[in-house]
Amino acid sequence: MESLKQAIRERGNVLSDTVLKVDSFLNHQVDPKLINEIGQAFAERFKNEGITKVLTIESSGIAPSLVVATHLGVPFIFARKKKSLTMTDNVYRSQVYSFTKQETNEITVSKDLLHADDRVLIIDDFLANGQAAFGLCEIVEQAGAQVVGFGIVIEKSFQDGRKKLTDKGYRVESLARIQSFKNGTVQFVDEFVTQLSK
Ligand code: 5GP
Repeated sequence: MESLKQAIRERGNVLSDTVLKVDSFLNHQVDPKLINEIGQAFAERFKNEGITKVLTIESSGIAPSLVVATHLGVPFIFARKKKSLTMTDNVYRSQVYSFTKQETNEITVSKDLLHADDRVLIIDDFLANGQAAFGLCEIVEQAGAQVVGFGIVIEKSFQDGRKKLTDKGYRVESLARIQSFKNGTVQFVDEFVTQLSK
């Protein structure tokens, strides 16, 4: 998705060889025009899949999920990382190790919201090693529902999350795929492949 790649190039900050900061348009401040295009792009790719729910983790997955869900005309659910006083024990639970925070969070979703007949699209802002993705998968499995696929805004293709998911037979749709952050610059997978074939 060209507008997303442009935002990453112009407004993203490469913090290290493995971490990209996108607080100016996705993770802290949100660019409404861009997030709308992101949501529309996912909805277009999954429109024929009979999706009944969109699922993400708070907080960075919420903005794109809201737009996808709006376009697909289905509810979206965000798994909670912190216990809420209003949440009873009637929850599905899973443990997720955070790549950026380097801590494990228990994520929960109310059993009232996900059911065995649901066809679920999982959305997240980044895919690195797949911990968040598999944690959300576990929740869907506990409900007896089906994971239809993953919509990832930014995939770091040099980490093994995509491979782990596709090896299990899951469909993964990423709007920007990053080959590397070498020398502080973002190299996208498609540009890298084009260069190799020249
Ligand atoms: P994974 O669970 O696939 O290892 O990592 C994905 C999760 O970690 C995402 O939910 C995202 O919040 C966070 N994450 C992973 N890599 C990055 C990164 O380079 N930048 C930012 N801002 N978040 C990341």
